[in-house]
Amino acid sequence: MTDPDLAGARLTIDLDAIVANYRLLSDLDARTECAAVVKADAYGLGADRVAPALAAAGCRTFFVAQVEEGIRLRALLPEADIHVLNGLPPHPGTERVFDAHTLIPVLNSLGDVDRWAKHVRAGGATTATLHIDTGMCRLGLSGDELAALAADPGRVGGTEITLVMSHLACADEPDHPMNAKQLAKFRAALDRLPWGVSPWGRTSLANSSGLFLGPHYRMDLARPGVSLYGGTPNPALPNPLAPVVRLQGKIVQLRDVDSPQTVGYGATHQVTGPRRLATVPVGYADGFLRSLSGRGTAFIGDRPVPIVGRVSMDLITLDVTDIPAAECHPGALVDLIGPHNPIDAVAAQAGTIGYEILTSLGARYHRDYVGGGRGGQDR
Ligand SMILES: *Cc1c(COP(=O)(O)O)cnc(C)c1O
Repeated sequence: MTDPDLAGARLTIDLDAIVANYRLLSDLDARTECAAVVKADAYGLGADRVAPALAAAGCRTFFVAQVEEGIRLRALLPEADIHVLNGLPPHPGTERVFDAHTLIPVLNSLGDVDRWAKHVRAGGATTATLHIDTGMCRLGLSGDELAALAADPGRVGGTEITLVMSHLACADEPDHPMNAKQLAKFRAALDRLPWGVSPWGRTSLANSSGLFLGPHYRMDLARPGVSLYGGTPNPALPNPLAPVVRLQGKIVQLRDVDSPQTVGYGATHQVTGPRRLATVPVGYADGFLRSLSGRGTAFIGDRPVPIVGRVSMDLITLDVTDIPAAECHPGALVDLIGPHNPIDAVAAQAGTIGYEILTSLGARYHRDYVGGGRGGQDR
């Protein structure tokens, strides 16, 4: 909870835009159910606000990364299917936590399959999701594990595999050969699993970008995350999703420099002629990445203002020489993320991806939620 008058920046999160993005992704294919990935606190935007708004818009299936995220989500959404992507923590006995909160584990290895089968034998919940690795080498059954399971399908015991999933490595590059390769591998894996697609099992391959690779990739259930939050599914094309976040820093000080000087740590920026500089109390401690030092561009209205010198922990400095004085005063707002510099543009300048810009958004910003049936300045 921050006071808007005291905070150094205002972060506006548009819940209606999230819902509009959910509808756009859902409407891509009537045969595909659209889930929502709300891991990492809904990519930094606040799962406690985002998930109920999505549920009210008709979303029934949610994915989180960690069990504790699932527990918090269950308290908000009593009815939803909640899948836990990272699956069973290695600590023995954690299976019971899934039952206590009606969470669906993603079984990511043959060891997980055995653990869950044992859990079912002991009277635990039966439902689980099975993850087949088709090219990430991260989580999911390897080729050898799949072969072992196909040779001995009874190993799942009483487990009901209601979803079989895999995850694409290069979906944001539609022409990448990995996409077709992973699709073929996933289909071959499904063919080897007698219960893979029937009687109850459904299939899921696509993340946000995967949804745009064409109908074959969409399958029964899609798992978009970043595009719900306005991130582009394909950095090479215009973004069809609505922007969700706006970050406005507040100018706290202006300074006219008329003699040669340097700006900030490391004295990396030289001012030679007369310039006007503005200081904004946002820094890398707020997730405003230090790699934006000397590279990022903020906007005042339609006018670009370059970030000059290094991003420090709590402050950045902008060159506002070209901005009319009426628009540039202590208290005036500067778009650090906005209509002219959406998350993907900021990410490109920072040498990263929109996902990292979102999940880094700081705790010191004043958060303003708009839309979603109710407004509110929650935190
Ligand atoms: C994070 C994640 C997603 C969502 O990906 P986006 O690219 O944000 O749409 C889907 N599936 C898995 C397994 C993930 O880890």
